Amino acid sequence: MNILQECMDAKFIGIGGHIRPDGDCVGSCLALYQYLKKCMPDKYIKVFLEKPADIFSEIKGFREIDSVCSEDTVFDVFFCLDCGEDRLGESRKYFEKAVKTINIDHHISNKGCGTINYIKSQASSTSELIYDLIEKEQLDTELAKAIYVGIIHDTGVFQYSNTLPETMEKAAKLIGYGFDFPRLIQETFYQKTYKQTQITGRALVESMRLLDGKCIVSCVTRTMMEFYEAEPADLDGIVNHLRNIKDVECAIFMYQTDVLEYKVSMRSNENVDVSKVAGYFGGGGHKRAAGCTMKGTFYDCVNNLSLHINKQLEEQEEC
Ligand code: 5GP
Ligand code: MN
Repeated sequence: MNILQECMDAKFIGIGGHIRPDGDCVGSCLALYQYLKKCMPDKYIKVFLEKPADIFSEIKGFREIDSVCSEDTVFDVFFCLDCGEDRLGESRKYFEKAVKTINIDHHISNKGCGTINYIKSQASSTSELIYDLIEKEQLDTELAKAIYVGIIHDTGVFQYSNTLPETMEKAAKLIGYGFDFPRLIQETFYQKTYKQTQITGRALVESMRLLDGKCIVSCVTRTMMEFYEAEPADLDGIVNHLRNIKDVECAIFMYQTDVLEYKVSMRSNENVDVSKVAGYFGGGGHKRAAGCTMKGTFYDCVNNLSLHINKQLEEQEEC
């Protein structure tokens, strides 16, 4: 797929990513936005995302993100990045009306929703796919920075198994553009506010082990979120702490989104494919990181999830 060729005849080009945008989503959307604006300065180009966390504000184009989606434009080309159209949120209406749609993603659960689909589940991140698709002579410091942020967030700073030799080779080329990458990693990935650290502590203290300690679950209720004045974005990273606990095969973190509704994040080590577990409940993701939204009481949700997790663990033991 040649991005520029696909956009050649377009006048209005839109870009959207998933709700609750993470580093890869913001990085890939802003990288594509910068690239198209640079190569096609005469076109009308817009990027739509639910308001991303301020930690990403130093990526070029951040302030041009439209989180309101109030205009009625029919886009000639609409890009859906890092998700399928079901998770686009407000910008889904542009996707549905667009003349041509292009879906670029690395989620194994995404079967492709566009007129054109570029889905590579091996890739570390959608940002890495943007790197692959752009003409390298157009790379500059700001574009490199956007792609780099996406890669470090989806690989846990090159720690997760989705980091391939070529991921690091590309990242090496990117840091050659001379941005302050240690600061970028610290400020967008590791640094947490006091509030985030407090609610993380609370979630860890209140966690429960299931299935002989192979599974661990923790839940943050709406009351807790109100008490700490926390937003969903403040809960990022809690599930990774749970996964890091010795003997844990699968970590579940949930936060309450409504009276009987929870957003579920799962992380696994080796033996559980959490994208399959999330898939049963209408969600998706990757083998070792996936999520879904579930209805019911906390205990209903945990029972249903642990049933599927246990099944996979038992199948593993049989092998
Ligand atoms: P997180 O737990 O960090 O929210 O998400 C982990 C991975 O699962 C990410 O790649 C994310 O895009 C995916 N994911 C999380 N929630 C959902 C969901 O409700 N549906 C789908 N399809 N994917 C999800
Ligand atoms: Mn991603």
